[in-house]
Amino acid sequence: MTAAAQEAWFGQPLVPGKKPIKKNLFEEIIHATGTLELVPVFPYLDDGAIVPCLSVSIGGPNARKFQFFHENIVPEVLLCLAGEDSALQAGQMMVLPNMHGVNNFLKDLANEHAYMVVLITIRMNSQDNQNEGFVIRCEKCNELVYRRETNIKHGPERPYYPEFYALGFYADAIDEFNASARICPKCNHVQEPFPDEQVGWRRYAQQVAVANRARTASEQRAVHCG
Ligand SMILES: [Zn+2]
Repeated sequence: MTAAAQEAWFGQPLVPGKKPIKKNLFEEIIHATGTLELVPVFPYLDDGAIVPCLSVSIGGPNARKFQFFHENIVPEVLLCLAGEDSALQAGQMMVLPNMHGVNNFLKDLANEHAYMVVLITIRMNSQDNQNEGFVIRCEKCNELVYRRETNIKHGPERPYYPEFYALGFYADAIDEFNASARICPKCNHVQEPFPDEQVGWRRYAQQVAVANRARTASEQRAVHCG
């Protein structure tokens, strides 16, 4: 390959600091450990970056139902890659409204053969502020029970491997919701706790933190040994 060819990607000049990466999305399913965990496929999460995230939903006797509403100021494009006994079929594509409901998206949650794999793509905006909201409505009467929002552009510093801060925000939101009384202000129905372990958002944030700490420690050892 010539030097010129190495500096272009599909006829466009390479963006400084980024290199082309090929990913097999079906292989990536292995790394998605939570229901609809939203795993960023590429390590580029900076301003203006297009961020495709893989989401997997799997049924079975231990799968627990959940429902929340997600608010985003940027459009989200959903492409269903595969599914069996799922609400969406392979090839279905849609632009989600700024406020949209999220659940397991399986017809029979208890069916261990049911699954769905989707790619959700967002674009990081070019401003310092990109707000997302996490909303829970009453499962009986649809009244607003919980709402929290944050600017997902800011989070803990990660020197080597960037963190998609939205997931840590969702984890904080469900911790706060689960610790609350979860009572509907209109009909007094007590909502079920949100299945935090199943969705895996905290696990993702913790693993990004550990990846960065492990690499930092390794680099420091290399300096001491060098
Ligand atoms: Zn209610």
